[in-house]
Amino acid sequence: MMSAPRAAEVIVVGAGVVGIATALQLRLAGMDVLLLDRDPPAAATSSGNAGAFAVSEVLPLAGPGILRQVPGWLLDPLGPLALRWSSLPGLLPWLTRFVLASRPARVTALSTQLAQLLGRVNADYAPLIAHCGLTDSWRRHGALALYPDAAALAADMADWQRRAALGVRWQPCAAAEVAALEPALLAPWQQGVRIADWSHVDDPYLFSLGLFQQFVREGGRFLQQPVASLLQQNGRAQGVCLDDGRRLPAAEVVIASGVWSDRFARQCRQPLPLAAERGYHLNLPHAGVALHHFLLNARDSFVILPLPDGGVRLAGTVELAHRDAAPDYRRSHLLLDKARAMLGELCTDGMTAWMGSRPSVPDSLPVIGPSSRLSHLYFACGHGHLGLTLAATTGAMLRDHLSGAAAIPEACWPGRF
Ligand SMILES: Cc1cc2nc3c(=O)[nH]c(=O)nc-3n(C[C@H](O)[C@H](O)[C@H](O)COP(=O)(O)OP(=O)(O)OC[C@H]3O[C@@H](n4cnc5c(N)ncnc54)[C@H](O)[C@@H]3O)c2cc1C
Repeated sequence: MMSAPRAAEVIVVGAGVVGIATALQLRLAGMDVLLLDRDPPAAATSSGNAGAFAVSEVLPLAGPGILRQVPGWLLDPLGPLALRWSSLPGLLPWLTRFVLASRPARVTALSTQLAQLLGRVNADYAPLIAHCGLTDSWRRHGALALYPDAAALAADMADWQRRAALGVRWQPCAAAEVAALEPALLAPWQQGVRIADWSHVDDPYLFSLGLFQQFVREGGRFLQQPVASLLQQNGRAQGVCLDDGRRLPAAEVVIASGVWSDRFARQCRQPLPLAAERGYHLNLPHAGVALHHFLLNARDSFVILPLPDGGVRLAGTVELAHRDAAPDYRRSHLLLDKARAMLGELCTDGMTAWMGSRPSVPDSLPVIGPSSRLSHLYFACGHGHLGLTLAATTGAMLRDHLSGAAAIPEACWPGRF
């Protein structure tokens, strides 16, 4: 058996963007950090997302509006939401909590919490991105949410007003203005809302890798090994045990294992309702369309990430299924026709499809904070649609909590479930 690395002050389990950014924030605060992943860094969900820092997404998914739309979507095989019926029994407890989270008082509380997290994203990322030398890849051009007609925009206006009340800055854009901002857009996709504070990166995988490389340059340690279990004694986490039996002691353990985090929660009886909200992308590296802004198709719930040299990444759709079920790449391809309706003919040379599992909790608020079952154990998971967006903030919150500078709000702790 190989010898175990020396004991760490903090072990972070999972090197997706959340684990990487957390490890980096802790390391920059002077902590001795060991980051563990069974795979190379950023190889799972963080590799293929849409690259957006989606700071306006302050409304939880389980709003009254979405519940009205769900039945229609489920009947439409090409709709933005699909459910693998064979996975339904396993998903029922999560879905029940999802419906409960849509009660008006709960939505108000969750929106306020989400707005507080999202309101600090740009301030948390700016110094980190500069420190990592990634400023050139951070495109702070804003986003356009697009509608096919004034009635569709009007139907969403109550949600935009709610976002404004929570501090999100946006302006309506008349068709002429949309056409001037993005000449490639076809009618009727020219009714819009501009969200100035959105930003994006061309390649979320390379961006996450850039954060990881800085972590290593700062003296952070990475070990590519699967983690089997938590080491625990007398109600206290003491490190982790690897699949090969090696025991790695640590003063603190952070679980940032994305959609797989509930495995460790079960080991310490921490209730953690996580579901795989699977999403798809279609990459068209030579699409032949020049875009400047990140685009959101507000009617069909998908997004368009501009890639360098005229490429685009189409991303979105929600498929509720077991995390290990085989991908259904028809869900990637259904985005192509919808994007062509907005942008005209798109060249498909070199096209690739991808599926990833968003680690989603029913109330849309990420799980960040100490375990209520084991001392010295923390969770940083359940970021759903916002893992890239909230990674630096998650790391900053854990850094401040562990150093005693500022406690993480209890509303984010796993003990709420
Ligand atoms: C189509 C799509 C588009 C998206 N677009 C956006 C977007 O534009 N903006 C945004 O903010 N978010 C977006 N998201 C969501 C975002 O991708 C996720 O929230 C984020 O990647 C989750 O990161 P993570 O680090 O928690 O998990 P992951 O990236 O999944 O990382 C978890 C890691 O834990 C490791 N792990 C698990 N178990 C073990 C174990 N036992 N031992 C060792 N290692 C283990 C895994 O190998 C993995 O590397 C999108 C998601 C999808 C699917």
